[in-house]
Amino acid sequence: MTSTARKVVGILALQGDFEAHAKIVRSLGAEACEVRVPADLEGLDALIIPGGESTVMTLGIAREGLEEPLRALVRAGTPVLGTCAGMIMLDREHLGLLDVTTRRNAFGRQVRSFEADIDVAGVEGGPMHAVFIRAPWVADHGPAVEILGAVEDHAVAIRQGNMLAVSFHPELAGDGRLHEMLLAMNGRRRAG
Ligand code: GLN
Repeated sequence: MTSTARKVVGILALQGDFEAHAKIVRSLGAEACEVRVPADLEGLDALIIPGGESTVMTLGIAREGLEEPLRALVRAGTPVLGTCAGMIMLDREHLGLLDVTTRRNAFGRQVRSFEADIDVAGVEGGPMHAVFIRAPWVADHGPAVEILGAVEDHAVAIRQGNMLAVSFHPELAGDGRLHEMLLAMNGRRRAG
């Protein structure tokens, strides 16, 4: 009944490259809204945690009292996409939502950034052009985690239920296919 309604995607906007995500979300016909305080999480169909600096984002989340509300939203089944620092925020040591341990700046400080074309399972139409900026990789993961893409045997794109996470920045390459996948995932609000 509500499947044709415009979906509302919240983008954590404490720090990082949330604007680039908002542009992609809008280009796909969904509504993008910036999340800075717990009340901004009301009525979201999906959530994006962008790249940035995970230490700074952690402080912002604590300062705004967002930790528990973010956990509750994702645990309730709301689809979430974490990119780069956003993947780190979802891991065991941060929000504790993804059953993964990430390694920060994993590709080495010398190689601070690079680009690669990688195949991501579930993304149609050829490899994604991935921009990596001081990117993490998945160092360890539990059985519920599906590896969707890797660089030199290191997992850089994963899915666990309603959570999608990538080490790179699809929004900087203007590739909206993961955002489309996020929008296609059905959260509780629409299902119930
Ligand atoms: N290196 C950053 C961190 O550890 C992540 C970089 C990014 O999001 N582009 O938080």
